Amino acid sequence: MRVRHKPWAAEKLAEYPEYAITDLIDLKGKWQSAFKKKGPLHVEVGSGKGQFIVGMAKQNPDINYIGIELQTSVAVMALDKIIEAELPNVKLLNTDGGLLSDYFEDGEVDRIYLNFSDPWPKNRHAKRRLTHENFLDTYRKILIPKGSVHFKTDNQGLFEYSLASFSQFGMVIDQVWLNLHDSDFEGNIQTEYEEKFSSKGQPIYRVEAHFPS
Ligand code: SAM
Repeated sequence: MRVRHKPWAAEKLAEYPEYAITDLIDLKGKWQSAFKKKGPLHVEVGSGKGQFIVGMAKQNPDINYIGIELQTSVAVMALDKIIEAELPNVKLLNTDGGLLSDYFEDGEVDRIYLNFSDPWPKNRHAKRRLTHENFLDTYRKILIPKGSVHFKTDNQGLFEYSLASFSQFGMVIDQVWLNLHDSDFEGNIQTEYEEKFSSKGQPIYRVEAHFPS
């Protein structure tokens, strides 16, 4: 996602420690203590401007959410939505999804969401795809046994690649949607990218898959 560089973004994140966690290492294995209420921990990797994670947190007050976003100038836009909504069950981490096992203990996370991840269409960039086996290996470690990954995208190539990557990794594919918006799926929270692509008439693909143990 391309956004204007905001030199003040890191400082603003630091001003809201209740929403944007910067003291990461201290929380490894203790994420429940960072929230007002204990609850399942759901993590979105590549949370962008935050519409999904904030919408999910409003819809499910008993679940605790963490949005992981690499770009500081993007993460700060999600921060604005969280500040406005004053939600106790959502936090942001401005870091790389590939480093998650530095910040989460094995088995600490209940579910991972990936939404409209960058497709990186060139083969030589395959390792940057958030559904590449290297990322899957990290997700497997931090997830509970049989923990799941929920992924949606408009990009057919990335979707096909991801289904193959999940299966080659030994994951179980639980359900696949080839046109999410024309299905009976209930409670879908749209992301910013999802609104943009579906308004152009593009189908939205979705898959739920879990690790075997
Ligand atoms: N999920 C949002 C949506 O659907 O509107 C944003 C989609 S945007 C195409 C992908 C986002 O993932 C970008 O904001 C990008 O900075 C972030 N991203 C890419 N690689 C990442 C990584 N390794 N760790 C965390 N975030 C990442």
